[in-house]
Amino acid sequence: MYDDVRIYGVGGPANAGKGTLLSLLEKAHGGEFVVISVGNRLRKEVKEGTELGLQAKTYMENGKLVPDDIINKVFLKIIDEVIKEGKCHKMILDGYPRSPGQVVEMLKSGVYMERMIEITLPEDVLIKRGSDRVCCVDCGETYTVEDLHKRTKKEGVCDKCGGNVVRRPDDAPEKVKVRLQSYLDDTYPMYDVLRKAGVEVVSIDRSETGDVDRFFEAVDF
Ligand code: AMP
Repeated sequence: MYDDVRIYGVGGPANAGKGTLLSLLEKAHGGEFVVISVGNRLRKEVKEGTELGLQAKTYMENGKLVPDDIINKVFLKIIDEVIKEGKCHKMILDGYPRSPGQVVEMLKSGVYMERMIEITLPEDVLIKRGSDRVCCVDCGETYTVEDLHKRTKKEGVCDKCGGNVVRRPDDAPEKVKVRLQSYLDDTYPMYDVLRKAGVEVVSIDRSETGDVDRFFEAVDF
């Protein structure tokens, strides 16, 4: 079912800059790939107050991973919707898988990854960046408050869709630290599981020059 689709994963600790890299990719190659973001879907469900949203809300607000059984169902639902639309043969999974259990479930369901890309940054930079980030509640686009180059044109309003731009509750400094620890404890071991399953894992440090080019290459653009 997924044979004619090339699937890439993008992961890394919160605030490493996955969103910015994906926006740059969209500007350069929009229409040539689809991004699947479980996090964006969950935020939508929370906003709409659905049963799934209610189940996920507390975990998300506390910077914790939502349990695998909930996440795997959401992921399969989104990927099936995208495949049914049949519009695109290249998919980038933003923030999935995020645990060894999710890797196992993903491979069991027949989704095979071309490559998993880990986006990293030193810890102090990650924490500082968290406190500078704001995000559109409707489309998930991220902006900064202090860094001029990625501010919204009109304060609090998304340039892309006109939605409200606010600080995510999980971007408070103490929550960013919890998310980083959760990344090291709960997510990091999955890279070994992926390697053992034959999936290539590439690490890109965003503080190094050439990071954007390396990212484009890693997703075969
Ligand atoms: P993100 O926007 O990708 O940072 O996701 C926001 C939040 O949604 C995370 O902090 C988790 O609480 C939850 N979430 C998103 N993707 C996953 C996943 N693959 N596994 C578990 N929780 C997830």
